[in-house]
Amino acid sequence: MKYLLKGAYHYDKAGFTKRNILIEGKKVFYINNVSDDINEDALGEYLPIDLTNKYILPGLCDVHVHFRQPGFSYKETIYSGSRAAAAGGFTTVCAMPNLNPVPDCLDNLKEEIEIIERDSIIKTIPYGSITKGQMGRELSDMEHLAPYVIGFSDDGRDVADGELMEKAMEKAKKLGKIIAAHCEDEVMSAGGVAHEGAFARANGLKGISSLSEYSRVLRDIELAEKTGCSYHVCHVSTKESVKAIKKAKARGVDITCETAPHYLILSDEALTNEAKYKMKPPIRSESDRLALLEGLAEGVIDMIATDHAPHSASEKAGGFAESAFGVVGLEVAFSACYTHLVKTGIIPLKKLVRLMSVNPVKRFSLPSGYADFSVFDLDDTFIVNPDNFISLGASTPFEGEKLFGKCLLTIREGKIVYRNI
Ligand SMILES: [Zn+2]
Repeated sequence: MKYLLKGAYHYDKAGFTKRNILIEGKKVFYINNVSDDINEDALGEYLPIDLTNKYILPGLCDVHVHFRQPGFSYKETIYSGSRAAAAGGFTTVCAMPNLNPVPDCLDNLKEEIEIIERDSIIKTIPYGSITKGQMGRELSDMEHLAPYVIGFSDDGRDVADGELMEKAMEKAKKLGKIIAAHCEDEVMSAGGVAHEGAFARANGLKGISSLSEYSRVLRDIELAEKTGCSYHVCHVSTKESVKAIKKAKARGVDITCETAPHYLILSDEALTNEAKYKMKPPIRSESDRLALLEGLAEGVIDMIATDHAPHSASEKAGGFAESAFGVVGLEVAFSACYTHLVKTGIIPLKKLVRLMSVNPVKRFSLPSGYADFSVFDLDDTFIVNPDNFISLGASTPFEGEKLFGKCLLTIREGKIVYRNI
């Protein structure tokens, strides 16, 4: 079946132009400006979808999600997670390896890949772990994992042993793969539940210092520079990390980084003692948030990733002291960023598209050249209601908020994987 997406504002490098796009098979077959006539004879039979005044973006890409399978399918599955991603406009995601079994060897990874092939409706690409069992003691079977993974990460865990991280980087460099690091000195952050700042003090909660993040960032920058490895910092949350990454970039270190919507939109002064605000790293101070926004504007922060980290309702019951770290993100990330960053004039829409699609595709060499699109109605609003989520996780700091930007259609390799129109 051919689809003709008619009359939407279509993104390209120059900005947005009203276009008609004909999709056939996995590819874009034909594209023209709306002001030009359509040569109907040349098109043959097609199914038109009227998208006048809507926006067609390249499929959104998220290099940091937790789909929890195999091992923790009571939190999320590849089936539910990939459908949640499609509902948020994502066509490609990269799945973190804190699973059971951990994809630290080919046999374990194959278990995950089999489920992906069976159940994922979008492109889900796994990470391999850096260390065996994510225990931080010996390296995973990186050589054998390399052909099947997007890169290596021990996300959720620290690689405390600097020598081991250096070896991992040397190997990753040889294999042409990226290292995506969760930067947290776990000795320093032990027992902490919230940013070491105003909110933690006011609520008598143990803090997680900024130093516990940026000390690791600083160490890894040195190692990345020494080894020449392609290095990516996950979920940057502190102003000091932004500063360190900016300096490293300026002297040519092969480094990129991501942050997540909640770090750009919220700061700890505004929090209440509810589990929906608890994640790692924690939501930091207002000065950190402002530094992250500056980092976006200056290109120090390369991309926005959700760190979609679903848990069961009982794991997210209670407040900061009792609940698990992590919130869901896929179904609201674009709309939250559009509402809080684009509508408010902080960044233009085309910059958001680069942060959520173009830049991750480039840095992680994600599959491209296919008819991958997300269509949004940017004028339509919705109230974030976790009861309506496709994800099995329901905890989001944006619960109850009115957001602009409703996802109408997600197309992955020419196939409609989500439709709400
Ligand atoms: Zn992490």
